[in-house]
Amino acid sequence: MAKSGRSAAPRSGGNNFFDELQVVFFRPAWYRPASRQVEDTYQINFWAYDSLMHLSAPSDTSLGAHAARIGVFGGTFDPPHIGHLVTAINVRFELNLDRVLMVVANEPWQKVGSRRLSSAADRFAMVQAAVSAEEGIEASDVELQRGGPSYTVDTLANLHAVQPNCELFLILGGDAAAGLESWERPEELAKLCRIIVVDRPGVVSEVPSDFSVERVSVPRLEVSSTDLRARAATHAPLQHLVPEPVISLISQLGLYGDAQ
Ligand code: ATP
Ligand code: MG
Repeated sequence: MAKSGRSAAPRSGGNNFFDELQVVFFRPAWYRPASRQVEDTYQINFWAYDSLMHLSAPSDTSLGAHAARIGVFGGTFDPPHIGHLVTAINVRFELNLDRVLMVVANEPWQKVGSRRLSSAADRFAMVQAAVSAEEGIEASDVELQRGGPSYTVDTLANLHAVQPNCELFLILGGDAAAGLESWERPEELAKLCRIIVVDRPGVVSEVPSDFSVERVSVPRLEVSSTDLRARAATHAPLQHLVPEPVISLISQLGLYGDAQ
């Protein structure tokens, strides 16, 4: 199991003092990094920093004195639903996390091509609407800011680079955990976070044996975005399956007008 406190920031590739600084905030305007790789690191860290700070309420102290315990719950969220929220809220409670980030995939590489996807901007807006009333659950656009295919390992590295002292808990449903081996750079991923597999009560979902995981049991609601898109396409009610502000947004944005 990955330990907290390790340095997981991407290597800066240079010995220069400013190269060592992982937060672009402290870089003087005149400074030019030694290489393209360093520049990329700055850029990514700026995005992640911007994203994380943007998510923080001004009174939030979790970025301060203690190592923040941050849940990272990624998904396509097309649309987000009560199953996602029940999971995020209960894992935060069970593991005493400061916050759970619902990280919207920019390009969910495992789904691209298999069906029509709503735009990342629309999915992010829906997640923002879904979590607006939930304390400690936040929408993250870190993968949108980074652009391109969304690899969780990159997201974890970005978050660590911005806040090296944080402890990251990657929250996965059983279906997501089952496919872990096919993810980008799985060994590196495992070093950057604690992997939390969310099981329904009484069920232990299968996980590839190479991974050390922790399990949390939370109530499981039988709802999926696939079903909800189909319901929306036939104008079946979404009430109590999708948060009200998300229902309004679906109608406002004209999403899921036909079966996808
Ligand atoms: P789709 O049907 O389009 O695959 P989905 O409902 O499975 O959508 P995703 O965005 O694919 O939602 O999933 C994001 C994360 O939420 C994954 O880790 C997945 O395992 C988990 N998840 C999906 N549905 C539920 C649910 N009903 N309860 C708890 N977790 C869920
Ligand atoms: Mg899914």
